Amino acid sequence: MIAERLARVRERVAVAARAADRDPAEVRLLLATKTQPVELVLDALAADARARADDPTLSAVLIGENRVQELVAKGPSLAGLTALHLIGPLQSNKVNAALRWASCIESLESLDLAERLSARASGPLDVYVQVNVSGEDTKHGVVPDEAVALAGAVAALPNLRVAGLMTVGARSEDPTVVRSGYALLRDLRDEIVASGTQTATELSMGMSGDLELAIAEGATLVRVGSAVFGARAT
Ligand SMILES: *Cc1c(COP(=O)(O)O)cnc(C)c1O
Repeated sequence: MIAERLARVRERVAVAARAADRDPAEVRLLLATKTQPVELVLDALAADARARADDPTLSAVLIGENRVQELVAKGPSLAGLTALHLIGPLQSNKVNAALRWASCIESLESLDLAERLSARASGPLDVYVQVNVSGEDTKHGVVPDEAVALAGAVAALPNLRVAGLMTVGARSEDPTVVRSGYALLRDLRDEIVASGTQTATELSMGMSGDLELAIAEGATLVRVGSAVFGARAT
């Protein structure tokens, strides 16, 4: 069941990449596992390992948790199997707990948080600057106008490596609206790289409902939850 859903998502990624004249291997898959029991996450990782045995061109799925509490709960079972990313907001009092299990923080949205991470991280930590491209006030992330300056300031801190940008796309039925938000994230990424932060190549964008649009605009990492795990209870 989960293997079939995962295969279907892999196929969607490959079709979308080829349609955009891109190599499917440029687009990694992160499983967004919020609210999912760790047993199901382990099933997904086992299915992924089998798929990769059949097709060595595939790269391993990553795991993304939204809440530090869930990261801490599932971390011991998942550590060492694949990289764990934090993809939800991080409060300053949870920095140590997040650093214990996550190898990447995709939800960096302030210099204050970056300074705390920089002070506590024991080695180079990958971070993505989260940008609110849609302007919807329920969404996290810096406003687009602040992204380049924040990325530059974060890149200057010890122990942090700005790996790219992350966004949650617009909640819109209109694909042109969603796509223009993703194009904006790509433009910001290009500006950040051109201004000297050459590590910032990744674009984490696209979810179950719109990963094709994100891949068309250059996503290098898509974050998929419900298309693999089914609808969430909450
Ligand atoms: C839940 C979530 C996803 C995945 O969403 P689906 O629509 O279930 O694929 C991706 N990114 C973030 C930040 C999320 O919270």
